[in-house]
Formats: sequence, structure tokens, C-alpha cells
Amino acid sequence: MRFIIGGIQRTSLLDFPDKISAIVFTQGCNFNCGYCHNPDLLNSKKDIYSTDVFFEFLDKRKGKLDGVVITGGEATLQPDLIPFIKEVKSRGFLVKLDTNGYRPEVIEQALPLIDYIAMDIKAPLKKYSEITKVDINTEKIKQSIQLIMTSNVSYEFRTTVLKSQLDYTDFEEIGKLIQNAEKYYLQKFEAKTAINDETLKEEQTYSNEEFNEIIETLKRYIKKVEQR
Ligand code: SF4
Repeated sequence: MRFIIGGIQRTSLLDFPDKISAIVFTQGCNFNCGYCHNPDLLNSKKDIYSTDVFFEFLDKRKGKLDGVVITGGEATLQPDLIPFIKEVKSRGFLVKLDTNGYRPEVIEQALPLIDYIAMDIKAPLKKYSEITKVDINTEKIKQSIQLIMTSNVSYEFRTTVLKSQLDYTDFEEIGKLIQNAEKYYLQKFEAKTAINDETLKEEQTYSNEEFNEIIETLKRYIKKVEQR
């Protein structure tokens, strides 16, 4: 199976809403965000766990785990993502997929198979290339948002927030971009561990009061907005 696993977290109570899950970290990403907390997963160089080892582990966790979170890197880059999801589902586990939304054609194939999807909204569309540090065709982002919002799958959108990258008007634009979405989370940037661009280590996020103001703005467009 062409599915490169860069790491596994055996148990998580936080990453799959209301579920106990294991997390599979895939290797490689098509974005290059400075704040990325998994810089060692960005290049397609390592193959730490074989899928056989992972499925052996999963078989032993039946009855103890509800589901599997497939995250990155960027999982939609894996050629055998769809067969991998099918294997997990065939063992009776739920699947949550985390994605940056840049491969809508894969998201479209995955949606009928999965139980939850979380897509990053990196910025308003005009700032996407600046934040991800790659040339972005924003039509793909819009297409993924549309696919997710019109699917029957539970979903969330989320944004990592650095004060220097996103200002108040940017959140207004994000609100319009995902207008009427069910759930949107603002994730406070924290540089506790290694990050892709170490020069961002000293960067700040907004204060709680400022976050509350931003959330009030976003609630004009989105049903549920929270800070993480
Ligand atoms: S934050 Fe996500 S999308 Fe950005 S480089 Fe890291 S893994 Fe890729």
C-alpha cells in the first residue's frame, strides 16, 4: 500500500470530537506554513511505520478505540488514502480526516467513506500563498469548502492564528468564505515545540479579549465559533 506513515499516537481524547481515537500522521505536505508544528513530517523522506504494523496495532485496540484520525503532513497526498480508509472502516473504526483542502478531487472520494472531516482555513483567499509559502490556486480551496459543506459528513473548519498574519478584516473575509458553516475554531498559535520557521517562535497571538471580539464578528456568518 502506498501510504507513508510518519508517526502514530496510540490514544487521543481530543482530536476526534467525543471519540477515543488513535492518530496516524502521514508524511509529506504540499504547503509550507511557517507555524507548522510537524516540520519533520513535511518532506516525503521517512517511512517509520508500515501500514501492516499499524493495522496489527489497530486490531489489538478493538473495543478500546472508537476511531482513527488521519492527519499530516497532508493525508490527501498519499496515493492509497482511499484504500487505507476502507481498511480502517472494515475493521469497525470511525475515521476522521484532517486536511488542508488543496486536493478537492481526493476529498470528494473520501467524503462518502468518512465520519468527520476537519479542514484548515489558512487565511482569506488573497493571503493563502503568503501564509502557506506556496503558489495557491484558490479555486481548489473554494471547491473543497463547497464539497464539505454540502456533504452529509460532520465537519469543522479551523484556523491557526498569529497576530502578524491575520488582522480583524481578514476574519471578516474568512467569515464570508465559509458563511453558514456549522463549526469554526480559532486555534491560538503556541510555539511550545519545534516549528517549521523558527523565526516565528517569538510571535504573538491575540489576547482572550481580542479573540472574543473576533468571534463576535465571525458569529454574523457562522453558527458556532470557538477559540481553542
Ligand atoms: S501546518 Fe499543515 S498544511 Fe501547513 S505545512 Fe504543516 S502539515 Fe502542511
